[in-house]
Amino acid sequence: MPDAAVSTTGTATTPTFDDVTKARERLAGVAHRTPVMTSRYVDSLVGGQLFFKCENLQRAGAFKFRGAYNAIASLTPDQRRRGVAAYSSGNHAQAIALAASLQDTPAVILMPEDSPAVKLAATRSYGAEVVTYDRYAQDREVLGAELAGKRGLTLIPPFDHEAVIAGQGTAAAELFEETGPLDLLLVCLGGGGLLAGSSLSAAALSPDCRVVGVEPEAGDDGRQSLEAGRIVTIPVPRTIADGAQTTHLGALTFPIIRRHVERIVTVGDADLLAAMRIFFERMKIVVEPTGCLSLAAALSEAVDCRGQRVGVIVSGGNVDMARAAALLAG
Ligand SMILES: *Cc1c(COP(=O)(O)O)cnc(C)c1O
Repeated sequence: MPDAAVSTTGTATTPTFDDVTKARERLAGVAHRTPVMTSRYVDSLVGGQLFFKCENLQRAGAFKFRGAYNAIASLTPDQRRRGVAAYSSGNHAQAIALAASLQDTPAVILMPEDSPAVKLAATRSYGAEVVTYDRYAQDREVLGAELAGKRGLTLIPPFDHEAVIAGQGTAAAELFEETGPLDLLLVCLGGGGLLAGSSLSAAALSPDCRVVGVEPEAGDDGRQSLEAGRIVTIPVPRTIADGAQTTHLGALTFPIIRRHVERIVTVGDADLLAAMRIFFERMKIVVEPTGCLSLAAALSEAVDCRGQRVGVIVSGGNVDMARAAALLAG
């Protein structure tokens, strides 16, 4: 999923933990304070103590609601009145649609015309106007900018935006508040909004906690970028982790990740399915493939959890029954 949206909101300044704190105030009473779950079974597998921050139970089914709501709340009243735009076929679209409707802001979401009917319907059901386009013939970034310009809308990108990053950081802040300091925090990444925000919270609330990013094997641009010391762009990766099919980190997310994240590890699709099965059978929760990245890493050789207190961000739960069943049957 290309993602180099140009933010037309405010300035492209790097967020700090102070912005995460402000986001928490805006989200209070609006976003769910999601539960932190534990599992003796998983603890016995990894030899450590895992704390799962369940953003699959967040409003609209993923942490994206936090960043979307915070970004819209950060606009001027005039910008909010004119409305916002986003392009995404995934969780960001639904998060923007819901967050906008809660703030009486019109939202226009650009989605591929061949998106699953359920996704189009879900986005509309939150009150957003859906504009469809031909993903094989039209460039959504160009369309998005045109649409925003013509209708005076503010385009809100999925990750490379100060208020989005700050909003995403609130989940980890809640986690640390509940567990106290941790030894290790595992966070999945696509464009790195969640990882960057989480790492700001870790640095402030649990300074000795090592933060490790997790991405799909097929889409290891984050790991390559950390090694190269610059943003590396890859072709759209083939993976069942559809929330992490980004091609590069962002100009805002990369420097934060570089500063606060120890390393980025990768896991394969088969590992994601094994983790999805554990969530379902042992913990009784529905987690989408991308949300399984951090548990898959804890279970893999790449990360040693023995004797450690480990935070695991479970990023989202938007997978329908038919797809989950097909994946797990395969
Ligand atoms: C968007 C998304 C991600 C990746 O988030 P980034 O901020 O782009 O790194 C991970 N998991 C889920 C469920 C998502 O919706």
